[in-house]
Amino acid sequence: MTPDPATLDRAVGAVVGSAVGDALGAPFEFGPEDAFSDRFPAAGGEMCGGGGWDPGEATDDTQMAVLVGESLLERGGLDPADVFRRFQRWAAAEPKDIGLQTEAVLTGGHPWDTAAARHFRDSRRAAGNGALMRAAPSAVYFARHGRTATLDAARRLSALTHGDPAAGEGTAVLHDLIRVALAGGDPLDAVPRALAAVRADQRERFAAVLAPDWHPDEATEFNGAVWPCLGSAVWALRTTASYEQAVRAAVDLGGDTDTVAAVTGALAGAVHGIGAVPERWTHVLHVPLPGFAGRVLRAPELTALARRLVSR
Ligand SMILES: [Mg+2]
Repeated sequence: MTPDPATLDRAVGAVVGSAVGDALGAPFEFGPEDAFSDRFPAAGGEMCGGGGWDPGEATDDTQMAVLVGESLLERGGLDPADVFRRFQRWAAAEPKDIGLQTEAVLTGGHPWDTAAARHFRDSRRAAGNGALMRAAPSAVYFARHGRTATLDAARRLSALTHGDPAAGEGTAVLHDLIRVALAGGDPLDAVPRALAAVRADQRERFAAVLAPDWHPDEATEFNGAVWPCLGSAVWALRTTASYEQAVRAAVDLGGDTDTVAAVTGALAGAVHGIGAVPERWTHVLHVPLPGFAGRVLRAPELTALARRLVSR
């Protein structure tokens, strides 16, 4: 069954909106605050490329998101071993960018169901934002299965590369907020309920960054960590009135700009819909898939992916 036009519009907004945020933020990664607005005070030319990225080129965030989405469709549901195999095939093709911890887990030679846990046990460093960044397709897919299924899938997908439960809890919160937005609700109103579903020993840190008065300047970690990344995306949504303003605000935070903007774009795209994502950004958007026979997805293919993910 095809969902109603408004739900379709929001689902495409989440998937394409995340990819656009990723591509928009990529050239500004590890840069200072306000670099984006200083360079582009008015609309036009923002998909500039740089730092090794072509204009409109999406990074590992969207590449991995596409792999998750295609696995869900081709396997008819969550098949974690299949997702892990796709990730491994991609990682082996030497993508331009890959998270350090994700690379260690995918190339370490351990089985899908123990690799991330083993890495976390040995390193104790796994609370990165690398599972948050690829959430849009799975959030769209599982929304129709309801809240419990959404939270469970988010945690399992996160655990493929991130053994730290904090990564899984943050990814679960993001999936739940996108689920609410797809149904036409306000994800900001849904924050307290999402927090209530977070593991008790993880709840306090997420409550801090998701508080209505929290500002990214208050972050106690680099925004490559799960807490400030999620908090910054929700802050960007809360303090702006459009998709465009939200992702601009996200990139202007500096730091891990592609991922913060990818997470922001997923949320803001789900809220404002694909109609709010500027065409001057979508028309140059492209997502190479290293390891998959030179495939490159553009906005029409991402749109088709989102439509299939949201349709029964
Ligand atoms: Mg990236």
